[in-house]
Amino acid sequence: AGALRFDDVHFAYDPARPILRGLSFEAPAGKTLAIVGPSGAGKSTISRLIFRFYQPQQGRILIDGQDISKVSLVSLRACLGMAAQDNVLFNDTIRYNILYGRPDATEDEMRAAAALARIDKFVEVAPGGFEAQVGERGLKLSGGEKQRVAIARTLLKNPSILVLDEATSALDTLTEREIQETLEDLPRKGATIVIAHRLSTIVKADEILVIDNGAIVERGDHDSLLAQG
Ligand code: ADP
Ligand code: ADP
Repeated sequence: AGALRFDDVHFAYDPARPILRGLSFEAPAGKTLAIVGPSGAGKSTISRLIFRFYQPQQGRILIDGQDISKVSLVSLRACLGMAAQDNVLFNDTIRYNILYGRPDATEDEMRAAAALARIDKFVEVAPGGFEAQVGERGLKLSGGEKQRVAIARTLLKNPSILVLDEATSALDTLTEREIQETLEDLPRKGATIVIAHRLSTIVKADEILVIDNGAIVERGDHDSLLAQG
């Protein structure tokens, strides 16, 4: 379970200005699909459509063969996880931030998710450990650390489809590499969609789509795309 398919998806915020122009792709369960492209290409729009913040004007988005416009928003969002590095943390403890959405999780489940997301290292050195406060008056986490807390949170939720938006502007190349390495170790039950700005940081995706101006302009793996320049 957990395959995602875009089938000839057209979308515009404003009818006079098409954003996605007949986008078709598939992310099979257990695989990683990366979507790269310049700023304004439509990457975040794709994730907003997956979460049904907006609906396509034409075409369909399917999860496990089911048109997402035909399921309840609650059940749709229950099977989706999102980790982005911007604005994802509450001004509360690391523990609170990880358990948000699964307050019933056991201590072991919480620690296992933290380890998979590789936040155990900075929790270890943080005064207070999991009880350390983050945000304005607490720990200053880097963009990558924030994103890894969000990854731990979404792993606890065990989503069938994980959308990882690298929300590019604030991430340097080193941080992007670290996130990519974290990703490589994650258990995948469903599809993982990585929204990224630069091809250089995506190495291990099973398939990479390059989009520009709302359409796929290249597809392949990392080495074949680099070889084409
Ligand atoms: P990317 O994530 O690849 O940078 P986006 O999907 O955010 O691209 O944006 C694609 C285009 O849609 C851009 O031209 C952007 O300005 C426009 N856009 C994004 N969100 C909105 C919105 N809510 N209303 C109108 N235009 C938008
Ligand atoms: P990013 O992908 O860089 O993290 P967003 O996805 O929030 O940022 O926005 C992408 C682009 O779409 C930006 O240029 C932003 O100004 C524009 N945009 C986002 N929301 C709206 C909106 N409601 N109306 C108009 N433009 C928007």
